[in-house]
Amino acid sequence: MSSTTPVIGVLALQGDVREHLVALAEADTVARPVRRPEELAEVDGLVIPGGESTTMSKLAALFGLLEPLRERVRAGLPVYGTCAGMIMLADKLLDGRDDQETIGGIDMIVRRNAFGRQNESFEAAVGIAGIEGGPVEGVFIRAPWVESVGGDVEVLATYDGHIVAVRQGRVLATSFHPELTGDHRVHAHFVEMVRAEA
Ligand code: GLN
Repeated sequence: MSSTTPVIGVLALQGDVREHLVALAEADTVARPVRRPEELAEVDGLVIPGGESTTMSKLAALFGLLEPLRERVRAGLPVYGTCAGMIMLADKLLDGRDDQETIGGIDMIVRRNAFGRQNESFEAAVGIAGIEGGPVEGVFIRAPWVESVGGDVEVLATYDGHIVAVRQGRVLATSFHPELTGDHRVHAHFVEMVRAEA
């Protein structure tokens, strides 16, 4: 990291990139879209947005980003994934497409569209371990849940009996979309994780 202001990328292949760029800029970072391996190489942290994980997976392969992403995550890059981003960070996926690939990074099994089958979209207050000031408003849009986690994964939040926020080392994931609410506490928490590596 070159200065005290961390540079945080948002994987900009597909999805709600702009909302994350705004949330990160408001959390005192330099926020940049990442579409190419050279851009990935320059960031201190990365957000993987919500969107459609099957499309994101296809485009990541097409843009030659899948392996570079896996390498940087393995090497300890702080990463935060929301919704489709959570799916991309799962070591194992249920109800994915047959050809769907993930980056991995969290020892968890994620069920894609898990809440979506019951409810296309809903909002709910979610208390997250480590986030002060009360629950955040969780926006769930055809959201995944975490079906199970390995021993090194911290469960940070559950909703309706299902795991919806997790952290393993420097990798954070939520089923829901804090970038859509104007409450940037989860982003600020991630920025602290990035600063801790500076
Ligand atoms: N259901 C979507 C997927 O499979 C995720 C939805 C979202 O990111 N809001 O990627």
